Amino acid sequence: MIRLPFIPETGKGYQLALAEALFKLGARPPVVRSVCHIGKKTAIRVYKAIHRQSPKKGMLPYDLFWILRSSVNNIHASIFLGLIHDLSQQQLPAVFNAEVFITAYELYCRVVAQNPQPSKLEAGVAQFILLDINRAWQLVGQWKASEMGLAICEKCHARHVVLNKMPKPYQQCPICDVWADKTGRRRWATVKPGQ
Ligand SMILES: [Zn+2]
Repeated sequence: MIRLPFIPETGKGYQLALAEALFKLGARPPVVRSVCHIGKKTAIRVYKAIHRQSPKKGMLPYDLFWILRSSVNNIHASIFLGLIHDLSQQQLPAVFNAEVFITAYELYCRVVAQNPQPSKLEAGVAQFILLDINRAWQLVGQWKASEMGLAICEKCHARHVVLNKMPKPYQQCPICDVWADKTGRRRWATVKPGQ
């Protein structure tokens, strides 16, 4: 397990250090509060101290089908949830906690920033980080509720995320089950040309 430099691991100081790390990664107060044990006022205060402005209001990103919208989305979710899975498994019994979440997201950011051939979608966002940390938190929720799981592609053996309730043809591999349209956009195999 990669350890964050936070000692001791109990008490308010630890929770504040976790909250700070999350805010720096772009997390919004409701997400930070569901990961750390801090109050609403404290969360807002820490947010303002870091970003020098009030947090934006409104809905958090929420799309239960985000991983199906594009195979590129799916690849990003697969990298992130794969890390969540592996880091959780490093502890016995398997544990998911704030440290696992932060470490997995930081590693995900480092991995995707190295992309030598970003797609259009990826080129449109800073450092090719297509998966916002607030959306990453939503994916963790789907994973914890067993709505989402990891599958291994029989052809290329890549590990990729699937929605467990979707019929098999829609649990596609984001590497094999795609084709490129005229504009170069990668489309799922289930999407026929002309659609
Ligand atoms: Zn494959």
